[in-house]
Amino acid sequence: MLLFQKCDVYAPEPLGIKDVLMAGGKILAVEDEIAAPAGLPVTVVPCGGLKMIPGLVDCHVHIAGAGGEGGPSTRTPELHLGSLIRGGITSVIGCLGTDGLTRNVESVLMKAKGFREEGISAWILTGAYQVPPPTLLGDVGRDVSLIEEVIGVGEIAISDHRTSFPTIEELIRLAEHARVGAMLGGKAGIVNLHMGDAQDPFHPVYEAVRRSELKPTQFLPTHCNRNDYIFEDAKEYGKEGFIDITTSSYPFFPEYEIKPSKTIGLLTDAGVPVEHVTFSSDGGGSLPHFDEEGNLVKLVSGAPRSLFDEMIAAVAEEGVALETALMVATSNPAGIFKLPGKGRLGEGQDGDAVLLREDLTIAHVVARGEWMIRDGEQVAKGRFEP
Ligand code: ZN
Repeated sequence: MLLFQKCDVYAPEPLGIKDVLMAGGKILAVEDEIAAPAGLPVTVVPCGGLKMIPGLVDCHVHIAGAGGEGGPSTRTPELHLGSLIRGGITSVIGCLGTDGLTRNVESVLMKAKGFREEGISAWILTGAYQVPPPTLLGDVGRDVSLIEEVIGVGEIAISDHRTSFPTIEELIRLAEHARVGAMLGGKAGIVNLHMGDAQDPFHPVYEAVRRSELKPTQFLPTHCNRNDYIFEDAKEYGKEGFIDITTSSYPFFPEYEIKPSKTIGLLTDAGVPVEHVTFSSDGGGSLPHFDEEGNLVKLVSGAPRSLFDEMIAAVAEEGVALETALMVATSNPAGIFKLPGKGRLGEGQDGDAVLLREDLTIAHVVARGEWMIRDGEQVAKGRFEP
């Protein structure tokens, strides 16, 4: 049992100074004052001056590695627990990526199970860039309905030279299978779309919606800040559909990308409801840059930590209210992907929280009611973490 006393709680909406009691991996109570239950082993954590926020939900991470666009030595490695929890991430959604040929969904699923054993919460998307996508049970709908950890499909690449250029009919069929699988399995069945550099990048999504009964909210297009023209289109698309902003790539491509911390203000000023915006790190992904002839000229790997850093930069540098900035990395992804108990602080929610110091740096992280980071020290480690 953990009793956090006198925290300034952001649920993400501000609740004021509260005591928070966690036990059995859940939040039992959020009250003005909670007395330590007598006769039970309770750790009292004084939190004067600390802000408690929900544990971050990173909804697009290459947990089992990705990449390889520059040959076998450029395959990115599996992520360690520490790379997530040091950025306050207590829930992660894993996906495959460019390489659906030599990598498989099975290894992403096992990696998610591994993260669960190590103390955080993890789900996956079935499929990869390619259509038809690789799956576990032979069909996206079967994966989503029958396998608990599978909550959607992606990242399916469109508008990119590495995509298999799915036809509109293929995109509709895929989304329909994800949707029916999700209805049967009690999930959201989101189709996560990797948006490439092609012009008019949202065209296939608009067409898929126009020619079917699908809603735009069945899709979550990611990398919407990768260049100025996709970002301009996202300002329009985001009024109806969801928009995911990638946080890890900006430092490597500042000449092309829109800084994630600036996007919240720019999108909401354009009339996009903030509830439609998510941030994800694309951690573990390779960030290749190709020249005009399609030659690989640069390749780096994304850091999950960027999710926290860009969210905080939106507050510290762009003047976004903390409760608004928090939404894009907590309640919005948890709501869009229908993750039970995640993304919010409150009675009955999971015991996932980050405690921030006055300067908005991380003091503590707890996941499912257990310490991950305590007084700035990482106390939970992945099995093979150095
Ligand atoms: Zn991608």
